[in-house]
Amino acid sequence: MARATIERFEEGRRWAQEYELELPPQSTILDLLFEIQQRVDQTLSFRYSCRNWMCGSCGMLVNGREQLACRTRLSDYGAGGVRIAPLRNLPVVKDLIVDLAPFFEKWNAVGVAVPERKPLPNPTKTQQAIDAHSDCITCGLCYSACDVLGHASDFLGPAALNRAYTLQIDARDLAHEKRGATIAADGGAFRCHSMGQCTNVCPKGLDPLAAIAALKRGA
Ligand code: SF4
Repeated sequence: MARATIERFEEGRRWAQEYELELPPQSTILDLLFEIQQRVDQTLSFRYSCRNWMCGSCGMLVNGREQLACRTRLSDYGAGGVRIAPLRNLPVVKDLIVDLAPFFEKWNAVGVAVPERKPLPNPTKTQQAIDAHSDCITCGLCYSACDVLGHASDFLGPAALNRAYTLQIDARDLAHEKRGATIAADGGAFRCHSMGQCTNVCPKGLDPLAAIAALKRGA
């Protein structure tokens, strides 16, 4: 028997709803949500897409920690069941769906790279450094886990700064100066307190904390 408490939200009303279902222990949190929606309560709302850890759509809190629902198994939790809640630091639209607009506004604030069409000066070394911080799936887990964003909503946050780092070390990028000013401004890299929760929760194994530290050194 799987037990779940889900923090619900609709039209300004919040409540916790409990469910009990028969599910194989290897089921994921996303399986559990589908089972509830299809068999028990069609009003439950959540976001998903690829079901394969790739799209970053199904980020949520499971027992207080940021997780991708498609990657997290019920068997990882004891008989006490799971408590599922929407991500932190973002407005809740309905139930487990948050509005990611603030996250992507900050992503865009560090600028989309428009590289010069010429080879990297030291392709192997630079490419390795860029690769180590690429593969972000914009899931927002680090944004939710960031302690600073809980009280400083203007902070760019770990994902945008991690992205900024990959662009700042790319010699072909044409926006270093403008982006550098954004990184050094209020709400930029120096707002980070180096708690490292971003790195702890990243499902892709990225290290935004190290990227932010490198940006601070560069600034
Ligand atoms: Fe998600 Fe990691 Fe990208 Fe943050 S850095 S948005 S946790 S993939």
